[in-house]
Amino acid sequence: MLSELCQQCGLCCSGALFTFLPVTEEEAKRVVPLGVRTEQRRDGRLALLLPCAVLRSTRCGAYDARPARCREYVCELGKAVQRRERPLDAALAVVDEAKRGLAELEALLGPPEPGDVRSTLQRAQQAEAREPDDVWFKAVRGKARSLEAMLQQYFVGSY
Ligand code: SF4
Ligand code: SF4
Repeated sequence: MLSELCQQCGLCCSGALFTFLPVTEEEAKRVVPLGVRTEQRRDGRLALLLPCAVLRSTRCGAYDARPARCREYVCELGKAVQRRERPLDAALAVVDEAKRGLAELEALLGPPEPGDVRSTLQRAQQAEAREPDDVWFKAVRGKARSLEAMLQQYFVGSY
């Protein structure tokens, strides 16, 4: 059931929930040749950057080589499905709602410039920091805040 949910979701790889995940040198050596972006963090740790460059729609383009964090991570919504606290169709409805919110935010922001690899939420956060009092940015901020709260509630936080 979890794999069915994840195959139609992909939000944890898309930059909607996190902007990076820690990887080992060995894992980086395996996935960088496949197109994954990595960087050395200030604390010295190596990180895979999200949105993941090998995410193909909702599927992993480096499935057999993916790092341990990718294999092991289960969001709160996924855990609720695993524990049979939430039926699959209800969980899929939550994923649809999150994606609708992301699409609405994307529509407000407009399409990214070519080569802009930031996630929709990263673009929104950086846009609102530039002109905090502008009406358009206020609309972006309102949409971004409600979406972040929803993602926190169902995917990242306790559930
Ligand atoms: S966010 Fe949750 S449901 Fe979506 S792909 Fe990741 S683990 Fe699966
Ligand atoms: S390597 Fe695959 S599972 Fe890991 S973040 Fe990228 S797309 Fe997701």
